[in-house]
Amino acid sequence: MSFEKLELIEPIRNALKAEGYTKPTPIQEQSIPVVLSRKDLLGCAQTGTGKTAAFAIPILQILHQDELYKKGPAGIKSLILTPTRELAIQIGESFAAYGKYLRLRHTVIFGGVSQKAQTDALRAGVDILIATPGRLLDLIDQRYINLQHLKLFVLDEADRMLDMGFIHDVKKVITKLPEKRQTLFFSATMPPEIQKLANTILVDPIKVEV
Ligand code: AMP
Repeated sequence: MSFEKLELIEPIRNALKAEGYTKPTPIQEQSIPVVLSRKDLLGCAQTGTGKTAAFAIPILQILHQDELYKKGPAGIKSLILTPTRELAIQIGESFAAYGKYLRLRHTVIFGGVSQKAQTDALRAGVDILIATPGRLLDLIDQRYINLQHLKLFVLDEADRMLDMGFIHDVKKVITKLPEKRQTLFFSATMPPEIQKLANTILVDPIKVEV
């Protein structure tokens, strides 16, 4: 299986070539077509499987194509919620790498640092927001962030959110999202509370396991 079969647009194929990726990993091979067909996804995969690209690549493609065909309102189109600052930064680097020939803007926000640089970036305009739950809720409450135009929501490492005590914040974030959206849910394990959350936020999901 090559990236060609996944029907990716040329700027993304070129970016993957520049990264030295020659073929998709199993999670990418299974997830990318599901996301591109605009279905909800339940992905059981750990870090190290290529899970980030499995959601970042199709999100970039969908947002790029939507920009081309119908100029919608400005605003955050995709939110990736992840438990740690380190993961948030890594995901931001992935969007930068795979999206380097596209004109989509992303930014990363997390707690433990001054919010000034983050609110400046938000004010300049962002298509893709990568965030940890606490700082995201802070900035929503302060009205720096509005998610009303969101199309794609990714919950990354859901089981770690639970382990780290963030599940209440995650549920609160979900109440701020439009009901009509595409949701991608990733978790390495599926304890009952996580399965329950998946059941409440996913609509007819396709399950992908690696
Ligand atoms: P992740 O599971 O998303 O943390 O990715 C693990 C590592 O695999 C990262 O360093 C990626 O850059 C790398 N990677 C992801 N997809 C591919 C691919 N298709 N080919 C080669 N390396 C990849």
